[in-house]
Amino acid sequence: MAQIDDHERAANSARGKSSKRQRFPNRTSFLAALLTIAETATQSLQTDKILNDTLDKSLEILNFDVGSVRVLDHEAKNTLFRIDRGFHHPANYTPRNQHRIEQLMIKAKEPHISPDIRQDPIHKSQSMEREGVISAAHAPIMSKKRVFGSLTVGSRRFHKFSKIEVDLLKAFGFQLGMALENAQLYDEMRQGKLYIENLVENAGEAIITTDAQDNILTWNHAAEVIFGYAKGEAVGKSLTILVPPGHPNELEDLRAKVQLTGPTRNLEVRRIRKDGVMINVALAVSPIKEEEDKVNGFLHMARDITEKTRYERRLKELDQMKSEFVSNVSHELRTPLTAIKGSADNMLDGITGPLSERQTRYLGRIKSNADRLGRLITDLLDLSKIEAGKIDLKPARLPVNLLVMEAADVLRAVAAEKLIGLEVARADEPVHVWADRDKVLQILMNLIGNALKFTPPHGKVIIAVDNAGAEWIKLSVADTGPGIPPQEAAKIFDKFYQMEQSNRQKTQGTGLGLAISKALVEMHGGKIWIETGIDSGSVFSFTLPARRPLEI
Ligand code: ADP
Repeated sequence: MAQIDDHERAANSARGKSSKRQRFPNRTSFLAALLTIAETATQSLQTDKILNDTLDKSLEILNFDVGSVRVLDHEAKNTLFRIDRGFHHPANYTPRNQHRIEQLMIKAKEPHISPDIRQDPIHKSQSMEREGVISAAHAPIMSKKRVFGSLTVGSRRFHKFSKIEVDLLKAFGFQLGMALENAQLYDEMRQGKLYIENLVENAGEAIITTDAQDNILTWNHAAEVIFGYAKGEAVGKSLTILVPPGHPNELEDLRAKVQLTGPTRNLEVRRIRKDGVMINVALAVSPIKEEEDKVNGFLHMARDITEKTRYERRLKELDQMKSEFVSNVSHELRTPLTAIKGSADNMLDGITGPLSERQTRYLGRIKSNADRLGRLITDLLDLSKIEAGKIDLKPARLPVNLLVMEAADVLRAVAAEKLIGLEVARADEPVHVWADRDKVLQILMNLIGNALKFTPPHGKVIIAVDNAGAEWIKLSVADTGPGIPPQEAAKIFDKFYQMEQSNRQKTQGTGLGLAISKALVEMHGGKIWIETGIDSGSVFSFTLPARRPLEI
């Protein structure tokens, strides 16, 4: 205290004669001023009021006649806000100059004091001087994070600034900085809130919030459209207005579930509109928590899926009809085909008398094409049964190594004919799967058959059985054929898809084998996929459960 008083006395005597009439502020009045400003700054979010009040207070306490406040943009290039006091021609007070002082302060983060601006090179362009200002002080308006601008005070009389005056200006600058920062934060928050409110209002989904007792708190535009209640009608009511009669506990159960296990998604529920029409809704419900464990309410997001559900149901019906049609037609085709094949066999066996070499060739062609047609019909029938859900698996515990050997043995003759090495990489000990024997054989025959079909002579096909984690067994068929380019890999499991292959011999397939295999693998809960194999050939792998799933 004594120190400051001394300092002040020194400052006062330095002012000399010319400043005799000035009121010399003491420390108490400084503190009082600071307190007033601090109060305004913390209580008000009106930044222009705070800036104006602070400037006036600074001039009043120093008994100065000229002052200004400048708030600059983030790069301190443009003035965003400006107040002037006491300038005869405020325009004289060029921003260019002001900016030079601000740049200086932004760097130094300290006030810039000029007891005599005529001696201060920074005031060289004389705008202050033209105004008759002799002494001036500039304090940075700054928070801990950044400098916002400057608070300037000037006197047309000579004034030697005391330390306490400089400190006060600096403190004012800080107050203003904090006030601006708060206002900015508040503004950002308000804008963020507006942005979210806008998003919610314009969302395509109904967004409804309730309190913990299902009373509706907010109701967006989509909720009005989907459920037919205007915001004013819905807010304040219970959400039970949307629940169809006969489900008195639905919301309560839902609340309990969400509180216990967290947000739920993709629930499909029935809801009743204001006009009494029932709709299907996809619903997601999340708890709204203010504290860690306390649920204050719920957020419901709902989408009207009535049309979609109707469409899906119709699609299912059509699919069913298509499957039945395919199944009927296939049966119908089979009977004449059996007759054609039987007749060709009989003729080839010589029952109808000796055949010329040409007749034998023609009959052979009839027989092999009838066989192909037969395979196609079988595949079509299989697929339509799978798709119609008409295939029941008969799973059992199977020694899969033996099954692989069995499939390989059936196709060994085909491999030998094409001079392809067919190997089974033996597992050290018997490996078991929980699967339907016939279906596993069908998948294996399909994959091994394809591998032999697409691998050129002298190539290699290797079948392997491995563990894939504790729960799954992986079976793979690798070949040295042309391989599958990555862009085709996803498509080859589609129905009727056959890859374009330049070097491929005449198409000998239906494009259904992999689609059937995939469906059969998935019925077992497994996965099927393809990778690039030896010599850029293909590796088809699929998984089957290692053991019987636990009954739930
Ligand atoms: P299909 O063999 O009757 O044409 P699939 O569904 O079994 O029908 O196979 C679909 C297509 O995938 C085949 O036409 C072929 O282009 C490709 N493909 C299948 N297996 C292999 C393989 N091992 N090597 C190369 N291409 C294959």
